[in-house]
Amino acid sequence: MSREPQPCGTPAAYQRHRKNGEPLDDACREAWRLKSAAYRAANLETARAADRESKRRRRREEAREPMPCGTNAARQRHVDRGEPVDEACAEAGRAYWRERNRKRREASGA
Ligand SMILES: [Zn+2]
Ligand SMILES: [Zn+2]
Repeated sequence: MSREPQPCGTPAAYQRHRKNGEPLDDACREAWRLKSAAYRAANLETARAADRESKRRRRREEAREPMPCGTNAARQRHVDRGEPVDEACAEAGRAYWRERNRKRREASGA
């Protein structure tokens, strides 16, 4: 296997100079500068994208519509707030627990 040393003007040559304690030439320094600038820019872009995504998620959560009546989430909300539970929500809650119990029975193998 041939391991040709990278020519000057490449990041690899820059690292080789550093490792061997050789003087740095301008070509290598420039190559390294470009590489680290690109690396930083890429990281910055990744960081920005992550930031945008987390902001978007937060906004989505804030804007999340409360679940409508007739769902177990709405029933839970009524209970949490001490509101009367309407029939649609009560029925959704019963269905929810029926389903839960059924799954539990299935999971226990009975
Ligand atoms: Zn060099
Ligand atoms: Zn309701």
